[in-house]
Amino acid sequence: MTKKCFNNKKVLLVLDGVDQLGQLARVAGNKNWFGLGSRIIVTTRDERLLEEHDHELYDEFVEGLPESLNLDSCPPCVNNDGFRVCAGCNRNIERGRYLGCIGAFWHPECFVCISCNLPITDLEFSAPGDDSHSPYHISCYKAQHHPNCDVCKTFIPIRKSHGHIEYRQHPFWLQKYCPSHERDGTPRCCSCERMEPWATKYFLLSDGRKQCSECNDSEIMDDHKCNSLFLQVQAFFEDLDMKFEQQIQVILVGRRTLNKDTEVERLGHHNLSETRAVFSPSAEPIVTSILRMLKGHSRITSIQMLYGLPRLLSGSILAEMMMHAWLRLNGYRNLSPEVEFGIRQVLAYMWLDSETSSGSSSTMSNEEKKLGEFFKHSIETDTTISGRGFRTGNQAVLRHGLWRTLDHIRTTGAFPIDL
Ligand SMILES: [Zn+2]
Ligand SMILES: [Zn+2]
Ligand SMILES: [Zn+2]
Ligand SMILES: [Zn+2]
Repeated sequence: MTKKCFNNKKVLLVLDGVDQLGQLARVAGNKNWFGLGSRIIVTTRDERLLEEHDHELYDEFVEGLPESLNLDSCPPCVNNDGFRVCAGCNRNIERGRYLGCIGAFWHPECFVCISCNLPITDLEFSAPGDDSHSPYHISCYKAQHHPNCDVCKTFIPIRKSHGHIEYRQHPFWLQKYCPSHERDGTPRCCSCERMEPWATKYFLLSDGRKQCSECNDSEIMDDHKCNSLFLQVQAFFEDLDMKFEQQIQVILVGRRTLNKDTEVERLGHHNLSETRAVFSPSAEPIVTSILRMLKGHSRITSIQMLYGLPRLLSGSILAEMMMHAWLRLNGYRNLSPEVEFGIRQVLAYMWLDSETSSGSSSTMSNEEKKLGEFFKHSIETDTTISGRGFRTGNQAVLRHGLWRTLDHIRTTGAFPIDL
């Protein structure tokens, strides 16, 4: 298809979200398919695709920008009245000079840049593919379409060796940035993963973590806030008919304390206490629980959680830990990791959902709602075993309800999938 349409035209081709080499090869397989001076922009989440695809293709396009507007040289092509029609003004082209380019005819004065409205004379290109016959000056096109880095706020550079623009984009926030910021020490927010723009300063927590202002706005800093959040999560469980008889204490700690306790587990000193860590996106522990085993009964004595995390993240972590405790207290033993982590994430997700759904979130800022969506998205797309468990568990709960799912887990150790 591409071959036929574009082989003597100068085009700008944008291929968005390419994920297979085959797609690239089909649409932009060879430079002969396009006129000289064409540009091809490929967006992909898989950098290797660009490495594997023929670089020569891009190099030559950037080099050669010869004349591509054919004056008086288009093949005769007429409307019913026997006239060529100008794609700019829609009037007949009766006599004199005309241009034939990007698949249409134009009065020379009608071939203008749709961005700045000034005439295009030579060495320009346009954006075909949408049938709109929309020409641009190169510089105008760049100003409108060349991706801008959300971190350093400049145009994302074209890689000289390959002739293509390469950038990274966060899948949820859609923050776009130069690949170099992944290596130049630009910090990310410890709660939402967004990169710190150079012009904005993130908050520095006393244990060295950096947090963006949106996340910092609802942070859980002190025991009082933490305790009230804990009671809210507990009330959520009680509404689901899940009661906690015993006292659980939540202790806010810094990164160092948390790492120390996690280290205890790594060293294998868990004969008396079991310490567990939930890992944040940056693979650092954000919470630990300490379960003391007393004469064969587990008692959850305390939950340690990182201070300073936004309220919705803190609450979802607490919900997960409380489900952990609830499973222990109610005799759910020897569950496979997928079922155990999965059902715990289901409860964390349900709590987030109840907080961000329209009724209860009326007092919440839009930024906070968006954060809630992000934390849900992180659970949904988690690629670890607990993400897999979540997806199966969530399907089961949607289909059979929470209690039928829990009963099924208790008797079979598995999620009810084909009930
Ligand atoms: Zn015209
Ligand atoms: Zn222009
Ligand atoms: Zn940048
Ligand atoms: Zn943040």
